Amino acid sequence: MMTVDDPGTVVAPEHVIPVMRPWLGDDEAAAAAEAVRSRWVAQGPRVAEFEAAFAGRTRASHAVAVSSCTTALHLALALAGVGAGDDVVVPSLSFIATANVVRHVGATPVFADVDRATQNLTPATVEAALTPATRAVILVDQAGVPADVDAVRTVCDPRGITVVEDAACAAGATWAGAPVGSRAELAAFSFHPRKIITTGEGGMLLTDDGDRAARARRLREHGMSVSAAERHAARGPVLEQYVETGFNHRMTDIQAAVGLVQLAKLDAIVTRRRALGERYRRLLGKVPGLDGAVMAGDPPGGTTNYQSFWVCLPPGFPIDRDALLGVLAARGVSARRGIMAAHLEPAYAGVAGRALPVTERLTRSSLILPLFHDMTEADQDRVVDVVDAASRGQAS
Ligand SMILES: *Cc1c(COP(=O)(O)O)cnc(C)c1O
Repeated sequence: MMTVDDPGTVVAPEHVIPVMRPWLGDDEAAAAAEAVRSRWVAQGPRVAEFEAAFAGRTRASHAVAVSSCTTALHLALALAGVGAGDDVVVPSLSFIATANVVRHVGATPVFADVDRATQNLTPATVEAALTPATRAVILVDQAGVPADVDAVRTVCDPRGITVVEDAACAAGATWAGAPVGSRAELAAFSFHPRKIITTGEGGMLLTDDGDRAARARRLREHGMSVSAAERHAARGPVLEQYVETGFNHRMTDIQAAVGLVQLAKLDAIVTRRRALGERYRRLLGKVPGLDGAVMAGDPPGGTTNYQSFWVCLPPGFPIDRDALLGVLAARGVSARRGIMAAHLEPAYAGVAGRALPVTERLTRSSLILPLFHDMTEADQDRVVDVVDAASRGQAS
């Protein structure tokens, strides 16, 4: 068995295959420069334009641009009326922001287990985690694999529990032929560079409810009754009011300008990622010991955007996950551990409450392999060759 102590070959930095690289170019640079030259750099006309374009692309009635997916989720919970004394069911197997936002509104996260094929919550795992105080569920489309929102709503709607979709990774994924985000009451997206399209930092909140959209716009801007953009556009003086305690969750116009260019590339990005993702599935399926392994792919009823390509090493695979990460690094392949589990982090020590066997197995045995828009098939072959050699106990 190979160990991390085996340093193997050291690869020159320029030959290292990154785990992710955003597809950004001159068009994004020009759009950002134009926003700067216009001197309107904070939330303004480009943010409004980006919201309209994103709502159109996701078939949502309202899109509210914010500073991150974390702040979008924070607003979603606030709009759902979640606060102190409430429980919110979340997967532990998620980026930690999913659990953190529950605490940001003073509520308590309750961890539920996930399905091993999709890494997502299911009606059964949600039901097992409900308490008399459950007020909301945050349903994550993990790594861009869409969750079954309708099935979870069947459990939650009759109980008056709001389902918030954490679609941070899921722009461009679909369910029943429709873009992800259109079936939850509230859905949140991320534009961090690790996600499908990027604005540097940024997020978007979708809702079909006009009153909630209006309140979200107010809450993101200090609780102001009139936005700065509206005040600027008005002919006469407009006196704003601060009707409730708000936040500064605004996106800038520089970010929105970049987002508009990125959104126009979304289809091309998803098409390319799906081709590479399916190719990974074919090639890795031939690696000894990985035949039949659980890895990223389309769930029944939906299509993934392959935001992250993860593979879970089966029991008995000849090299363990951490050792394999070491071998990949030594061969110039920047891979990552799989999705984290919040309940195993110090910040959530002692919170679990129930066994999360699937979560623990996935987080300890899975890894994320490089996948980015301009990755070549030769890059991908190099990654698979390292995994293949390691599976045979060779140093590649
Ligand atoms: C990345 C991520 C977030 C946080 O997104 P930010 O835009 O960085 O705040 C939240 N939830 C999930 C599932 C994520 O992957």
